Amino acid sequence: MTLQQAIWRSTGNPFVDMGQEMMLALARVNQPEELTSEAVEPLVPRLVNLYFHPAWNKTMYSIFPNSPLTNPATKHRQQTYLDLLRHWLSLATHPQGDVITDTACTACGDPAQLYLYRTFFPMADAEGGNFQSYNVAGMPFCGACALAVQFMPLGVAKVGGRLALPQFSDSLAQYNWSEWCWKQTLVSETTDATGPVDAGTARGVNAFFALIERLLRESADREMPDSSITLYLFTNYNQGPNVELHYLPTEIFRFIKQAMSPSLQRAWQQVVRRGYRPKSQKVDPEVLDEADRLKKQTNQVYEHLLQDRSISANFVDHQQRRCIGDWLLFKAYLKEVRGMDEQRLESLRTLGDRIAEIMRNKRKRLLFMERTGHKGEFLEQLYRLAKDAAATGQSRPLITFDELVQDVFPHDPQKYESWREVKWLLLFRVYEVLYDELRTDTEWTTGDETEETIEEVVG
Ligand SMILES: [Zn+2]
Repeated sequence: MTLQQAIWRSTGNPFVDMGQEMMLALARVNQPEELTSEAVEPLVPRLVNLYFHPAWNKTMYSIFPNSPLTNPATKHRQQTYLDLLRHWLSLATHPQGDVITDTACTACGDPAQLYLYRTFFPMADAEGGNFQSYNVAGMPFCGACALAVQFMPLGVAKVGGRLALPQFSDSLAQYNWSEWCWKQTLVSETTDATGPVDAGTARGVNAFFALIERLLRESADREMPDSSITLYLFTNYNQGPNVELHYLPTEIFRFIKQAMSPSLQRAWQQVVRRGYRPKSQKVDPEVLDEADRLKKQTNQVYEHLLQDRSISANFVDHQQRRCIGDWLLFKAYLKEVRGMDEQRLESLRTLGDRIAEIMRNKRKRLLFMERTGHKGEFLEQLYRLAKDAAATGQSRPLITFDELVQDVFPHDPQKYESWREVKWLLLFRVYEVLYDELRTDTEWTTGDETEETIEEVVG
């Protein structure tokens, strides 16, 4: 089939493109261009049947309100809806027929064949007709796009009362999402349809990550390319259509992919678990299980990832003096998201290990490093550690000048230079190396602080 004959092709409109993706999943083909009218025809009654299952039908109030799917005033609702979709299919297969003169489809730019209200197209709330000069209510579409949008609900997830539609920048990643969604629906299609995939929370950010993590975990057998993701959270209720956008850059997706690999999944869960913030102190976080917390609490790890803020502090537990997760996970984060290169990470790791050896016998150094609140203090502590190392007669300095300017405090504007990131990394290594000793030693936290304070002043 040549491109000229193709009825469907990618449009850039998230609702239309998701609909096409779901048509691909149902028809078992790979490209929109492979969707022929013969391939789509049997999908239409199958879709209509599914949408009249109670669980799906209920959801339609927030997607296609007042349509024959939900409007009790419509007679023979199922047949009416089926006839309408068949009509749109015939328009799609005859794109030259019934065209509206000088009017292009809102989604794909082909000649328009009909107008849609938001009854059949979320957010197309131009019922006053003032969005365009012809004073005709609704937005112009071609039959192919109108039909495609009817398949869109199969590819969205429930987020409380809203629906989540992810748009991946990579087409294979998008395909994997659609396949995954369809697999969930297929399982229940003939028995007891359950409606769209449920994210398990009404919180947009939590839902975004929960869905991506599930997709990665349950599609582990597939190649998952790097991709950025835009999440559209929408409702199309009569009372108030609304859309909220979240954006996840490629580097964070690449990191989450690594975090969800079988060897790091557990470590990632530990880090995520520490990100939950109860609304009030009254709720003891320990009482809630994972599913409850996803539902009820803000997660700082997820929030910070989307806000381009560091999550490094979540990899160490100050109070318990232990590292959280796994060095390979922390390294993946610093590399993929914070942009530290392999050589710098390796240099800082070995520096952390060397510092741990000094702290093994000088615990107060650890206490002071933990307490550093700005770059000057941090540098001061490194200086003291370097002096300690020199005093033991080691031939190699603790930190060479090159390491200091390239790895600890880089002056290269291309490099990520937050000193706090370095502090968390060094502490992570110290906690890991000294794990056994820190478990059994409780005295050092309250030790000889006074003496050290005097020493600080004297210099
Ligand atoms: Zn179109």
